[in-house]
Amino acid sequence: MKIETIAIHAGNKTDDATKAVIQPIVMSTTFEREVDGSYVNGYIYSRAANPNRHQLEKVLAKLERGVEAAAFSSGNAAGMAVFQSLAPGTHIICPDDMYHGLRNQIKILFAGILTFDFIDINNEATLKANIRPETVLIWVETPSNPLLKVTDIKKVIAIAKQHQIKVVVDSTFATPVFQRPLELGADLVMHSSTKYFGGHSDLMGGALITAVKDEWWAKIRQVQEMGGAIPSPMDCYYLVRSLKTLPYRMRGHEHNAHLLTAFLEQQPNVESVMYPGLTSHPQHQIAKDQMLGFGAMFSFCVKGGADAAKQVLSKLKLFTIATSLGGVESLIEHRASVEGPDTKTPQNLLRVSVGLEHIDDLIADMEQALE
Ligand SMILES: *Cc1c(COP(=O)(O)O)cnc(C)c1O
Repeated sequence: MKIETIAIHAGNKTDDATKAVIQPIVMSTTFEREVDGSYVNGYIYSRAANPNRHQLEKVLAKLERGVEAAAFSSGNAAGMAVFQSLAPGTHIICPDDMYHGLRNQIKILFAGILTFDFIDINNEATLKANIRPETVLIWVETPSNPLLKVTDIKKVIAIAKQHQIKVVVDSTFATPVFQRPLELGADLVMHSSTKYFGGHSDLMGGALITAVKDEWWAKIRQVQEMGGAIPSPMDCYYLVRSLKTLPYRMRGHEHNAHLLTAFLEQQPNVESVMYPGLTSHPQHQIAKDQMLGFGAMFSFCVKGGADAAKQVLSKLKLFTIATSLGGVESLIEHRASVEGPDTKTPQNLLRVSVGLEHIDDLIADMEQALE
């Protein structure tokens, strides 16, 4: 089945009890037990499993072409479940421009527990040189945040496989509409559901999807259940609802991103535009080969430094100055300010999450702000 059909039907089942076409929200934290101790429908307690979470996990697994998914209360909780599932003392390799929230999580919460290196994983020699006997995991984030670097997933996996190293891909920017890392050989895919999956900037969530149900996956399930960083039945319901329109939303977002980045590239006071869909992007060909679309996240650098960039921000009317991404409304931010004093992000860089407003209005707003 095509992704549009999967998105609508995968998590949906007419309710047996009421014949409701849309699955009801089950708020109950606990489920009735038989006298013999058994549970008729398999549900015991909502931290372990809940019908709405079950439905959400089914859709997520199918969308990513995986065998099973685990839903979490945030993207960071999903990432944390991966790191908590690893044996103390093991070594992980992460990209040097990894999402700063997860980079800080590893550096601060896993210091002394895991060992890690943040490197340019796009550089084959650097990647190979950083593999140690105790390396168990390579973390990939593509396209990356906020520089929109694209990593050749297959190439990283080929190197990892030679050393029995697992590969996790944070595919938040791409979504399964535009990228299917499991089909390229990744072991796990990670998402911040807060972004395009939710799509309306009104809920937090995270997800892991696995290619195989092995011992490692069982451990991750254990972290999910015992750690308890699970999404509420309401949030699961909203996510299932939002995912139904994901393919069409992504198409609209991408359409706008193509036209807006093409416009920006022509502007005299724009220094550079970072978007995998542009032929000027250094990894445009890799993106073209491994992705089904280029997404709708991009960054651009304004000529004249941080002050010039902030002046553009102050003049924009339709783009809200806010962090996060993937909502129907366009957002923009001065990324270096968000990432703090030790950031390597250029001071004149603005990161844009292109929304679903009409492209003419978005271009007109950008045009007046850049004047
Ligand atoms: C937002 C984000 C995360 C973290 O997700 P939260 O839902 O904010 O915890 C991880 N990776 C990427 C690429 C993100 O954009």
